[in-house]
Amino acid sequence: MEYTIEAYNQLVEKLLALSVAYYDNDAPLVSDFEYDRMNNELKRMEAEHPDWIRPDSPTQHVGGHVSEAFAPVEHEVPLESLQDVFSFEEVAGFVEKMDASVPEPHDYVTEPKIDGLSVAVEYRNGVLYRGATRGNGAVGEDVTENLRTVRNLPKTLHDAPSRIIVRGEVYMSHDSFNTINAQREVESLPPLANPRNAAAGSLRQQDPAVCAERMLDIICFNIQLAEGVTYETHYETLEAMAAMGFPVVAHTLCRTPQECTDTITAIGEGRENYPFDIDGAVVKLNSLAQRTALGSTAKYPRWAVAYKYPPEKKPSRVTDILIQVGRTGVLTPKAVIEPIRLAGTTVTNATLHNQDFIEKMGVNVGDTVLVQKAGEIIPEVLEVVKKDSKGCFRFPATCPACGAPVVRDEDGAAIRCTGAECPAQRLRNIVHFASKDAMDIDGLGPAVVEALDKAELIRTPAELYYLEPQSVAAVERMGKKSAENLIANIADSKTRGLARLLCAFGIRQVGSKAAKVLARHFATLDELMTASEEELTNIDDVGPVTARYIVQWFESSQSQHQIRLLREAGVSFASVEELVDDRFAGKTFVLTGALERFTRSEAEAIIERFGGKASGSVSKKTSYVLAGADPGSKLTKAQTLGVPVISEEEFLKLIEE
Ligand code: NAD
Repeated sequence: MEYTIEAYNQLVEKLLALSVAYYDNDAPLVSDFEYDRMNNELKRMEAEHPDWIRPDSPTQHVGGHVSEAFAPVEHEVPLESLQDVFSFEEVAGFVEKMDASVPEPHDYVTEPKIDGLSVAVEYRNGVLYRGATRGNGAVGEDVTENLRTVRNLPKTLHDAPSRIIVRGEVYMSHDSFNTINAQREVESLPPLANPRNAAAGSLRQQDPAVCAERMLDIICFNIQLAEGVTYETHYETLEAMAAMGFPVVAHTLCRTPQECTDTITAIGEGRENYPFDIDGAVVKLNSLAQRTALGSTAKYPRWAVAYKYPPEKKPSRVTDILIQVGRTGVLTPKAVIEPIRLAGTTVTNATLHNQDFIEKMGVNVGDTVLVQKAGEIIPEVLEVVKKDSKGCFRFPATCPACGAPVVRDEDGAAIRCTGAECPAQRLRNIVHFASKDAMDIDGLGPAVVEALDKAELIRTPAELYYLEPQSVAAVERMGKKSAENLIANIADSKTRGLARLLCAFGIRQVGSKAAKVLARHFATLDELMTASEEELTNIDDVGPVTARYIVQWFESSQSQHQIRLLREAGVSFASVEELVDDRFAGKTFVLTGALERFTRSEAEAIIERFGGKASGSVSKKTSYVLAGADPGSKLTKAQTLGVPVISEEEFLKLIEE
């Protein structure tokens, strides 16, 4: 594949942003599988173009930053990452490399790779002294007080060296995760997303009492430093740690490559039985002297490799198929399934994407499907593995939230609710109704709409005109004065005229431009409401699809109810878009650069009032390009195409004539 440096830079930026979300904010935006896929792509790019490699590339350093909220701790022995591999061939490749670099006899230790948060913990004279997160590998965050709350971390050791630093992985067990989430549900708090990020987020809490409530545990897997003691093998250090009282990672001595891969397979097959998440298995050279001789790259040791298991897929039976209506009115199907444990969480439902997917799979309630958590954090149905039902699930013809008919988008697989009063879309509908291009109601932004909705004062846009000042004043953070202002602004909007009202309805494909076209054609809303699809299609700039959407919208009982409420509230249905004259009829203007006397929208309004059209791009059909100061590429394009370019003065002359 041909790579470009632009694509390389973009990928680096993307991965850096994802790393900040994952390491610093403990809130990943994509699954590890997806992250690893992109990271592998980056590695391939860098292998082909070593001269592109940026020092800040995620392949060149340990991910994570040190938050200023904690005191920094310099790691005496760096906390490195691990080189990831995704196939047994790559594990064999690692072993071959070891065979080539280490002439003496050598063996390996294979361990499960715990999916948690890496820490280094120091003990002095057998007493817990200090602990820090991995941070950027060289400097970590002092989280000693939080580490003291980690349930199985020994606070004192048996027969320990005078100073010892061990490395381990702090994790949240499945039991802790489920208990905490059950509690959070009772308290109406959002659930913790997954145990790994929950563990990381908990250990980086400012208040150790909060961390203690999170019921964290640790498993130790390395001695970083032990004063006055020499060990020969890694295996020996693990046994020594266990004797001192540490919970130690399961470890299998492997003498051949086959033993390594057999152990990896066994760990993978036993994944279910661990009380915590594992995301791989680590193969490490056993001899400490051989390790020292091999050393490390900037990011990971040369003597170890982490095999990552493919994303978990599991079968489960579909017990129901639910249709959710999003804020934008799109209907999304999800399968309710018998609970399964998948990639760290208990999964009880999975997306079925859309109607096309359902039909392709032929899935229905009662079937057994394969579920995966992969590209997205949301689990997805992959395929039907056992068909026990008859036929395929049928998408509803009406919205499950409001009963209005649903329509399929012209340009895609999305199915949308057409209800003007649909409760699932009400916030968005009201915000849109009040927005600048629509009824332009000052002071009625998303936050105020949400507050009014929370106070149960409005459910649909038209109800805005029935708000009482006293009830609005009682809304959180409102007060008497702002309530009065808001009511006055809402009342002012009653005379905005037909074009804005049409735009405010949010009919598909009827934005402010199309609304103006319609308002110029019809004197009142009542005239427009009785127009047929054919009549509408005959209007310049109104296509058959838009015409159909308009007719459907006016036919709906919810829309008619809104119109009734608006009429009774005294909202004007008359067009104020009269033409001054039609001197610009058939002419298209394109604006570029900064105008002195008008804003862009004023200039566009003038053009429209003289029967012309304003467009965003220059073509052969453009009549004039109106160029202000610092014109953009549209001017050059006009010159190339021979389109007349006029100045602001010339434009003024045209309208003053
Ligand atoms: P890593 O997690 O793949 O491996 C290194 C870590 O493994 C060490 O920090 C260590 O603490 C831990 N570990 C657990 N058990 C171990 C054992 N037995 N022996 C040795 N180490 C053990 O590497 P990384 O650099 O920390 O992070 C990369 C991982 O983070 C990838 O899996 C990636 O998917 C994930 N990540 C995800 C996102 C996202 O947006 N989802 C973003 C960045 C990173």
